Amino acid sequence: MLKSRIRFDDVHHDDIVYPGAIGFTFVHLATLGALWSGVTPTAVALCLGLYFMRMFAITAGFHRYFSHRSFQTSRFFQFVLAFLSQTSLQQGVLWWSAKHRHHHKYSDTLEDVHSPRHHGFLFAHLGWIFARRRGQADYDLVKDLSAYPELRWLDKHKHLPGVLLGVVCFLVAGWPGLFIGFFLSTVLVYHGAFAINSLAHVFGRQRYLTGDDSRNNWFLALITMGEGWHNNHHYYQVATRQGWRWWEIDVTYYILKLLSWVGLVWDLKGPPGDVLEGERRLPRRAIEQVAHELAATFPIERIAEQVRTTWSQRPSLEEVVATAPKAKARVESMLRDVSIPHAQLPSVDDLRSRARSMAPCTPSLEEVAERAREVVIEAVSAHLIAELQPARA
Ligand SMILES: [Zn+2]
Ligand SMILES: [Zn+2]
Repeated sequence: MLKSRIRFDDVHHDDIVYPGAIGFTFVHLATLGALWSGVTPTAVALCLGLYFMRMFAITAGFHRYFSHRSFQTSRFFQFVLAFLSQTSLQQGVLWWSAKHRHHHKYSDTLEDVHSPRHHGFLFAHLGWIFARRRGQADYDLVKDLSAYPELRWLDKHKHLPGVLLGVVCFLVAGWPGLFIGFFLSTVLVYHGAFAINSLAHVFGRQRYLTGDDSRNNWFLALITMGEGWHNNHHYYQVATRQGWRWWEIDVTYYILKLLSWVGLVWDLKGPPGDVLEGERRLPRRAIEQVAHELAATFPIERIAEQVRTTWSQRPSLEEVVATAPKAKARVESMLRDVSIPHAQLPSVDDLRSRARSMAPCTPSLEEVAERAREVVIEAVSAHLIAELQPARA
């Protein structure tokens, strides 16, 4: 994005439901049980194995299949993916997918449930899960999934797969199996997956202009089995594959490819050529978001002052402002038509070249620059009217 803005907990979140965080805190504290039980090689192997098995389940299941329907599979394997994903104790399959679809619909706007830009870093990482308002999922977004009774059942019994896995770990490797094999791997999967909501919207490179803060980050891609290519993913969400270049390691995709060879999954998708080259035009919402950000890099208040000085010889401005309620449209049209030095009011050319220097290339550059010019004009006009109208009242 044009400019990354991150807030580290400078916000109060009164809507956090603290009792809801008790289970989550308990999972973290349970890892301390290893101080009493000790650590065995079997427990460590279980921990590593379950970390990768469940990270795969989340990225291939919860994310690429259920949230984005980026490939196809049988109804049986669909259930297996949902069940395995839920062993990670990250709520139910319908809840997770609804939350994630909502994230893409409103990425890094105020509506986004976990945007580091608006809600602070820690809230974006994990606080939102326990928030009264933000913790609620909009199930209307996942009607295609809730059509399956077995998925509705699994979503309702959200902790069941995780509890069963915990019991199996205890039976296989005793207390160390439970504390290290199950609880520690659960904690690691939590923070690996959450890092995509928090870190992958702050640190890394933006290859494509997406209208949000998503980034490509190789380190996150390694620990999350491919999810770190998050800017690629936000640019073109229906691709099963998220690491698009040969060096962008995407282990989840490699495993899905293997599964496709044995017929368990099919219709895997990669990015089309124009997407890969960044030639896909931005959707309207993204253009609007980028244009507002671009306009915000200009000092509106100072521009308004300069425009007012330029027009001081022309009483027409004050007369126009006095013609409320049509003043807004008339001032905006004057700003559009009357020749004002570029140093004062940025032209489309100015906006285009600033966008070019600050953001990744996009074929929608012209639309962004033109819309940003309108946004600047609207903001300057609002400022002039606010200043002049009370004076004449
Ligand atoms: Zn996604
Ligand atoms: Zn994202």
